[in-house]
Amino acid sequence: MADTAPTEPVAWYASVEQARRLPASRPDARRKALVRRQPDQAQLIRRTVQVVFLLLNLWIGTRFYFFVRFYETGGQTVWIPRPAGIEGWLPIAGLMNLKSFALTGLVPDVHPAGMFLLAAFLGISWLARKAFCSWLCPVGTLSEWLWQGGREIFGRNFPAPRWLDIPLRGLKYVLLGFFVWAVSGMSASDIAAFIRSPYGLVADVKMLNFFRHLGEAGAITLGVLVVSSVFVQNLWCRYLCPYGALVGLVALVSPVRIRRDPDACIDCAKCAKACPSLLPVDTLLSVKSAECTTCLECVTICPAQGALRLTATGRRAVPAWAVATLIAVVFLGTVGYAKLTGHWNSAIPDAAYRELVPAADAFEHPR
Ligand code: SF4
Ligand code: SF4
Repeated sequence: MADTAPTEPVAWYASVEQARRLPASRPDARRKALVRRQPDQAQLIRRTVQVVFLLLNLWIGTRFYFFVRFYETGGQTVWIPRPAGIEGWLPIAGLMNLKSFALTGLVPDVHPAGMFLLAAFLGISWLARKAFCSWLCPVGTLSEWLWQGGREIFGRNFPAPRWLDIPLRGLKYVLLGFFVWAVSGMSASDIAAFIRSPYGLVADVKMLNFFRHLGEAGAITLGVLVVSSVFVQNLWCRYLCPYGALVGLVALVSPVRIRRDPDACIDCAKCAKACPSLLPVDTLLSVKSAECTTCLECVTICPAQGALRLTATGRRAVPAWAVATLIAVVFLGTVGYAKLTGHWNSAIPDAAYRELVPAADAFEHPR
């Protein structure tokens, strides 16, 4: 009598850990001839872009520090023009200005670069999913280096159990919801009053001061986040970053996604094991999750020719160099447009900085 065929459904796994035990535990794992895929340069390209943006942020941060020091010392240090790119670190101001622009059609003259950068990152998220997180964001880059360091030291990372992982992932949406709720209730005049208040005008200086003068609570919180990130992959990005939550929601309507061809796939599960977002890539036909950051780690590790690709509408393959080009075009195009039209720099007079910068810590959030 013939053996009974396995009846277990196989397209779903209770957890990524379970998926990672494949193929030995997978009842329908079939042996297929492997047509080996040529190695690509995707990770070299992505990591180069990451380093370029990290260096760009360090350059902007250093210049902004010297700009602030000039006013703090009453003009005793060298004056360096304020780098408007610092407003990329003011996402709430960017969101407010974007709403103001939508309501009035006028480009705000205080922190306009924050609005343009936010628009560029949202555009990139629509065109290349959540690539902002794994290609551009310096926090994402540092986070990635931390968990990779942890994996080197301990031989593995330590994912949260599923019962904890799911509610924790919701935290970033709660934080995003709070900010969206706060901004959604503001009219254009409310936004102008907030941005033009002393607090709003030097919000960038206050942010710098927060990191320069970390109190005990801030230092402990930062230390816990850094150490935990060595053990848990992308701890900040996965659980806490509202910016990541926003770009992830935009990515849900992106025409670009990872697609798996089950005929070419040899069911090795290497893609699921490599995915930093812990997605069960090997069981999906296309990855629609808001957690996918277009890091292409799954594509890089996949040994089977044509089994896994990043594709755009119509299933056209999108190579890593195309993602890098797209990011560069949208980012440089947006910044270039803002500069050429005279909307890049904040119209805050020198006299205002002389008065406000030294007293920045004293300004309270407007009610
Ligand atoms: S599915 Fe692939 S591209 Fe998306 S996060 Fe996972 S490894 Fe990166
Ligand atoms: S898509 Fe590639 S890496 Fe993933 S299971 Fe199939 S062959 Fe393996």
